[in-house]
Order: sequence, then structure tokens, then C-alpha cells
Amino acid sequence: MELTEQYLSYQKDLSGNNLYLNQHFNFKNNEKTHQQDKLITNSENKLQLDKSPKKSISNSHAVNNLISDQTKNQNETISKDWADATSMAELNTKIENCKNCILGNSRLNFVFGTGNHHADILIIGEAPGADEDELGKPFVGRAGQLLTKILEAINLSREEVFIANILKCRPPNNRVPTPAEVEQCEPYLKKQIELIKPEFILALGLTAANTLFKSNFKMADIRGQIKIYNNIKTLVTYHPSALLRNPNWKTATWEDVKLLRSMYDEYLKSKIN
Ligand code: SF4
Repeated sequence: MELTEQYLSYQKDLSGNNLYLNQHFNFKNNEKTHQQDKLITNSENKLQLDKSPKKSISNSHAVNNLISDQTKNQNETISKDWADATSMAELNTKIENCKNCILGNSRLNFVFGTGNHHADILIIGEAPGADEDELGKPFVGRAGQLLTKILEAINLSREEVFIANILKCRPPNNRVPTPAEVEQCEPYLKKQIELIKPEFILALGLTAANTLFKSNFKMADIRGQIKIYNNIKTLVTYHPSALLRNPNWKTATWEDVKLLRSMYDEYLKSKIN
């Protein structure tokens, strides 16, 4: 395999007490690998590899690199094998310390999602807000209370479905997620979908819809229709936050969730027959 790029980066562990040196190797076929070694301070107050005492660098060099490579290192704070998780609980544990994007530094709490890990219906919103950030749970503020009422109106409880967001951390001031943040976080949602295996997805708002379908839909183009996302019947409707701002949209939302309920009833019937 032909090596195309090799570089070093440094990272501290979560306690901040230990420093590690990463050697990254990128190959022509786009494969990447890296080797990590712990650094220790020797008797001359220089950093050296724990495994290989011959390679050493000065403290100032290490610290400079630590700062300049901070972004590159952010994704080193989570377990490398999160994609191999076989349960939602395992996935949560493996990604809850993620700092792959800058939101990892400003969040109060990582918001994995809540509900039935084997739900038939997965509800996907945009990102945690202030209340969600504080409690580490999705849809617990005013918009969340409205979502609970909408679900209850079609005889669904929050415990029956799973509720998640495109992003697991709160964007400051509830701004719209950036494309880079979505790109970093979406793989976690995809893994959640793989583990839950829902029959239906209800996407709340255009950030959720356009992230799933990699498109630039307007709500009028897409709501009220059954779309297929990875073989999963998907409906798009207004985000409850939008309904709080524009109560006129509640009628359309009611039509959308009634359609979801009727599809779900058909599915449940088909399982019995
Ligand atoms: S928003 Fe997603 S990618 Fe960014 S730090 Fe949080 S969990 Fe990681």
C-alpha cells in the first residue's frame, strides 16, 4: 500500500493529565491508520515516548503542536470502535464524550436521544436547545412539550418511539447547525437508525429532512408525502418550534401525524395477519 501522507499530532486525555503522540498514516487507497503512544516527562524535563525512549521532543514543541493540532485531535476523544456498537447503550457510552466538532466544547450535556431502543417509529429533530442541553434529553422544553401532546393525540407515548436529533450537542443560541457540524454528527444518527431498525421515521423540520435526503427541499415540496429513506417510510412535518411561532401550521402537522398513525396501524395489522 502506497503511503501518501504522514503527520503527527498530540492530544491530552480527558483528565488532562496525560499527553499522547499520534502518528497518522494516510494511504493512496484512502485507508487511514494511526499509532498512539503515551508521552512521559523524563529527568531532563523533556517529553519522550513511553514505549520508545529514544524518540524525544522538547516540552515547548509538544505544547505548540498540541495547540495547532487541536482541531485534528478533537475526534480522538471517543472510542475508535463506536461504529461496531451492537446496542444503543453501547453506542451512547462510546460517543458521549465526542468532540468531533466545536459544539463538543460548548455543550453542557451530550444528548443521545430517549425512548424505545427498538421502536417502530423514530422521530428526528434538528439539535438540542437550552433545556435539552441542560438536562441531556431531547425535546424537553416548550417545543418538546408540544411534541409530547402531538404524539398523545395519535395515541403514542414518548416511551414507545425513539426521539433523537441530527446533532447531539447544542449549537450556541440555537443557531442552525453548520454543514460541517452535520457532517461530523450524522454518522451517529445513521448508526442509531441501523440499531433501532425503525419502520417509520418522522422528520421534524427541514434540517432533519434535508440532512436525511441530501436535498434542499422546502416544506411545501415535501410534507404530506411518504418518502423512502434507506427502505424506511419517512414523513416530514413542521418542527414543533416552528409551530410555536406559527400556530397556523398546526393543521398541516395534524394531517401529517394522522397519516403516520394510519400507516403505523396498517403495519401493526399486517404483523397480526
Ligand atoms: S455535535 Fe455531534 S459531532 Fe459535534 S461534538 Fe457533539 S456529538 Fe460530536
